[in-house]
Amino acid sequence: MTSKSMDKIMALAKRRGFIYQASEIYGGLNGFWDYGPLGAQLKKNLRDAWWQDVVLLPCGGAPGPNGEPVRVVPLDSTIIQHPKVWEASGHVAGFSDPMVDCRETKARYRFDHLFVFVPADGDRKGKPLFAYQPGTASEAKQQKKAEKAFGETKSVALASVPRDDWTHLLAPEAEKVGSLTEPRAFNLMFKTYVGATATEEDVAYLRPETAQGIFVQFKNVVDTTRVRVPFGIAQTGKAFRNEVTPRNFTFRSREFEQMEIEFFCHESEAADWYKFWRDTRVAWWKSLGLAGENLQLREHDRDELAHYAKNGAGTSDIEYRFPFTAPGFGELEGIAHRSNFDLSQHQTHARTNLEYFDSERGELLPNGSRKGEKYLPHVIEPSAGLDRGVLAVLCEAFTEDPSRPSPELLKFHPRLAPIKGAVFPLVNKDGMPEMSAKLHAELVKRFFRTGAIEHDAKQAIGRRYARMDEAGCPYCFTIDGDTAASQSVTVRDRDTGGQERIAIDRVSDWLAERLSAP
Ligand code: ATP
Repeated sequence: MTSKSMDKIMALAKRRGFIYQASEIYGGLNGFWDYGPLGAQLKKNLRDAWWQDVVLLPCGGAPGPNGEPVRVVPLDSTIIQHPKVWEASGHVAGFSDPMVDCRETKARYRFDHLFVFVPADGDRKGKPLFAYQPGTASEAKQQKKAEKAFGETKSVALASVPRDDWTHLLAPEAEKVGSLTEPRAFNLMFKTYVGATATEEDVAYLRPETAQGIFVQFKNVVDTTRVRVPFGIAQTGKAFRNEVTPRNFTFRSREFEQMEIEFFCHESEAADWYKFWRDTRVAWWKSLGLAGENLQLREHDRDELAHYAKNGAGTSDIEYRFPFTAPGFGELEGIAHRSNFDLSQHQTHARTNLEYFDSERGELLPNGSRKGEKYLPHVIEPSAGLDRGVLAVLCEAFTEDPSRPSPELLKFHPRLAPIKGAVFPLVNKDGMPEMSAKLHAELVKRFFRTGAIEHDAKQAIGRRYARMDEAGCPYCFTIDGDTAASQSVTVRDRDTGGQERIAIDRVSDWLAERLSAP
């Protein structure tokens, strides 16, 4: 089980310029976060890794379940779509969380986030029932009160407390019982107006997911490119949800970025593609360093499935054990068989035929060709959160080691590290600064596409290593008194602190091998 401290991770993220509160000088805005210089590059590296491994060379060139190369093409659709898109997708009617308000404290809670301490034997003895939100200060406080009132207690979901008993409920931080309202639906989509008049006719929404932009362009992509089913359309981009209780740092934000693939296939092949994508996506997160017991794959139970997925190939979540969910896990990516639900909804609402003509299916004709088959493809959707991915990578990389010059360091996978290497002159004399400046310039020229190469000539060498460890830089190269004579430098490994000597003219290739860079 992880024992990492979220407070320390957040403090380091702020101190070294990974993540800042949005609008911080105005007091911040709940649920919004900005990425600082190191965070912006880390996030870009994760997004680029996804793009490379999903779009440019899907699955590293390995074949799909049909034995052929996996085909995925990119798309970049708008954040604001025609409002009917969200009617068709079901978001206008259904994209809501039931909420309860506390009339006394004015706090608002997600209905499914509240739990209640009740007497273990069911006898309330005229005392209140104690509602709380797990993981907040209210939990311990309410538990103490409940134990005093009933002796033995147990915790149940608010949803299982009969409505008649709600008048006896003491809400978190409230003084009087019965202050919670009935659950009310709260739509999570941000509304805006398109055009100058701003009447109700002009209402539009900020997209709550990138997926629908893909579905509504499915036909254009088929008609204007040479892709044939099975193939995928992928896009990354911002999504917005007016989350009721944004929390846990960037985990639940109101503005976040998704990386989504909609993979279109024939219904008969959906189960195979579902398994393929599920396993491929787990392997991908592992390849970036989330390899240990903090990563798990969880298949959904049948009663958890979305209505359109009930008869499908399956739905699963790739989950990470964040310090704030431990010992439990939080979702990083969901892989769902969406059947042909979305295409069929858009086909009906837009009154446009979105069927695909598959010339390789259907009855075999005497001339050896096929008759063809028209159908709405089924969809396997691997939908990942970029911000949650960055957060998982940060948490996984965070390491405490009091014996090191920097007691806190970040062990990023070299592919993701925002600083790829650093070059130091041991001292600022005897030609060392000139040699290090030259090596630095050479490395920058080769590696600028994926991150920074730092040059630091200030302070004692131990302090410089410490600064790089804290920023997650995997390798430091030091020019010392022997460099001029031996034409070699020391390279120090962030994770082990170990040092070795390598030829100065080998440094660039040595680093490229470790970064798997060109
Ligand atoms: P949750 O149950 O945590 O609200 P979800 O099941 O609604 O998530 P999806 O609609 O499946 O999430 O979205 C796909 C991915 O988008 C999630 O796996 C997650 O990584 C990311 N995501 C969803 N909501 C948020 C959010 N509020 N903040 C950050 N990332 C999010």
